[in-house]
Amino acid sequence: MSVFTHKEFDDHEQVSFFTDPHTGLRAIIAVHNTNLGPALGGCRMWAYENDDLALTDVLRLSRGMSYKAAISGVPLGGGKSVIIGDSRKIKTPELMRAMGRAVDTFGGRYIVAEDVGTSVEDMNNIHRETDHVVGISDKGEGSGDPSPTTAYGVYVGFKSAVRHRLGKDSVKGLKVAVQGLGNVGYNLCKHLHEDGAELFVTDVQTDRIDMAVTEMGATPVGLHDIYGMDVDVFAPCALGGILNDDTIPLLKAKVVAGAANNQLAEARHGDMLRDLNVLYAPDYVINAGGLINVYYEYLARKGGKAYDRAGVMAHVEQIDATATRIFDRAEKEGICTAMAADQIAELAFKEKKNCKAA
Ligand code: NAD
Repeated sequence: MSVFTHKEFDDHEQVSFFTDPHTGLRAIIAVHNTNLGPALGGCRMWAYENDDLALTDVLRLSRGMSYKAAISGVPLGGGKSVIIGDSRKIKTPELMRAMGRAVDTFGGRYIVAEDVGTSVEDMNNIHRETDHVVGISDKGEGSGDPSPTTAYGVYVGFKSAVRHRLGKDSVKGLKVAVQGLGNVGYNLCKHLHEDGAELFVTDVQTDRIDMAVTEMGATPVGLHDIYGMDVDVFAPCALGGILNDDTIPLLKAKVVAGAANNQLAEARHGDMLRDLNVLYAPDYVINAGGLINVYYEYLARKGGKAYDRAGVMAHVEQIDATATRIFDRAEKEGICTAMAADQIAELAFKEKKNCKAA
């Protein structure tokens, strides 16, 4: 396994590997860039088929966090961590505490939060070993699960894209296909349902689909059929890489706006969507609500002040202006929206110092 020559390596400042034989922890922490501030990003626990796939994921995800913070006006850098293993099989409080000790070795240069496969309870266990963790329980000094705020931010960006591409100020009567009914996808569905959208949903877990059918009158759709649904908007809220050579030609939706990280399999798929006149709301722009939320928790705990929920919501509303600026720039420059977003983010974080001792 190579690091410096890895195709996803992007001059990351630090990539560290951790093992703890007593608990079975095998983890990688990647700090992509700290020009704007300490690197913050979630800890993903996943049963990667091999170590190289785990490295690929952590390199890509940590880079994405630099872009997400920069475009969202959050003065933080980009980092991420992965734990290799099935969270339902090997996760224990002791393993998460070992992860906390790994995070602590960064001395605050990397701050961890929850991601796919980890929870508020896991962050509480990490907190027993380090202060450099956010998204801890809201029973004490933390702000709890960031997913509902992420979902609200996705909804804000979703509406910007609908206004821009479909000329509508409301989602009422729109048909929306949602892939993935997890913490974010399900909450996004609730916003859409409350405001009168018609939902078509899929998930690998049938109980999630059943809930959406019962609670929101959603129509269940097969895992693969979701791409070709005759809908106005496709909202990917499960996995990355799902916008690719096989799926893009199937799309009938005119807008893609969802929560999943790294939706484009490759950068050229942004151009492919543009050529087909599909407006893509860049993932890291509209799914930044969770990051914004934990940033306010970080500020509050650092300064010994109360967590400012109203400030969080006002900041999340700015996703509308940011998304609109990106759509306008893409049109003006004749480029895809993903590239327009990257250009704006890079202006914010790339120009400063290059390297720190690692
Ligand atoms: P989650 O694990 O709670 O939900 C993911 C859902 O997708 C699960 O219900 C799972 O069964 C389903 N799924 C998995 N594979 C699928 C497939 N092939 N087809 C359909 N459904 C499938 O995760 P989440 O927290 O809701 O996050 C969803 C996405 O949003 C992830 O890509 C995550 O990285 C991203 N994201 C989450 C947050 C957050 O605050 N939770 C913030 C930013 C980005």
